[in-house]
Amino acid sequence: MLIDHHTHTRLFSFDGRQTGGELLDAAVQSQLAGVCLTEHFEKDVSYVAGEEAVFNLDRYARAIRDLQAQGSRLGVRVLYGIELGYLPHLDALYGRLALRYPFDAIILSLHILDGEDPYSDQAIYLRGRRHVYGRYLEQLADMVDGCPDWDILGHFDYISRYAPWEHRKLTFAEQPDRFDHLLRRLAATGKTLEINTATVRVLRASGLSAAAAWPDPAILAHYRALGGERVCLSSDAHDAAGVGGLLPEGRDWLRAQGFAYLTHITNRQAVMTSI
Ligand SMILES: [Zn+2]
Ligand SMILES: [Zn+2]
Repeated sequence: MLIDHHTHTRLFSFDGRQTGGELLDAAVQSQLAGVCLTEHFEKDVSYVAGEEAVFNLDRYARAIRDLQAQGSRLGVRVLYGIELGYLPHLDALYGRLALRYPFDAIILSLHILDGEDPYSDQAIYLRGRRHVYGRYLEQLADMVDGCPDWDILGHFDYISRYAPWEHRKLTFAEQPDRFDHLLRRLAATGKTLEINTATVRVLRASGLSAAAAWPDPAILAHYRALGGERVCLSSDAHDAAGVGGLLPEGRDWLRAQGFAYLTHITNRQAVMTSI
């Protein structure tokens, strides 16, 4: 049973390029059991000039109910999620949102590092790989500890997607202490580690082989050694062509890494199903 745990539509995400209906049709095509809508909500961040990357949360709740009805007619489960873009001063606000709305799942993601956007601002990489990757992992660990109420760590390898280096895949061996700290906190708090296939697609496009583009197995092995069991699979699709992308392959890959379960989050509770 595969649930795509991270998807965007153009109704609420500034960069979404599909409607909710198109997302559901694509989920049927990909034979998914379900999709989780996780629209971008990033207080105090603007990717389009003059527009804060937020939306009306009440309108979103109503849209989800409509999509859930549509999904049940199509045999696709629709989970009510959100992708919160983290900044250190937003802990309290995001904690209140988590209490106010009946989300199934909250993804916490780091899209802005030390005030800069790793996607659009290449100057960030001038500080060097060791510094930038190290800072990103350090901020992720601070986020895990600082933000009070969420479920899934979004794309831990986001920083490697747009880095300028030829061999840009993030490896355990280059940041063992920071990975240890982050993964230890994740395992201890029972959060779920997302395997985000958008990063896999980007790394393949950068020249890595199909197998090598998956995350470094040493990262997953360390997480398991620390007692980390919860992993979910996400396409991070922004258009219909991406929905469910590489999920069957990801399931096989996770099995090969020794994971026996996939996790999905419903009603803020982790549900583990055999791979
Ligand atoms: Zn994201
Ligand atoms: Zn996303």
